[in-house]
Amino acid sequence: MAVPKRRTSTSKKAKRRTHIKLDLPNMSDCPNCGEVKRNHHVCPACGHYAGKEVISKDN
Ligand SMILES: [Zn+2]
Repeated sequence: MAVPKRRTSTSKKAKRRTHIKLDLPNMSDCPNCGEVKRNHHVCPACGHYAGKEVISKDN
């Protein structure tokens, strides 16, 4: 089995990962209202999750 000769230095590792956090982490558009929401969380704008209204927002 091939084994790395040198361990990856902290700076080398950081330089490789520079592009990782360019996007908002764990965020996507709500399919109901289009607001940006966190994945696997109820949309704060419309209260929908997985196509159903979980929290009523019309009060
Ligand atoms: Zn929404």
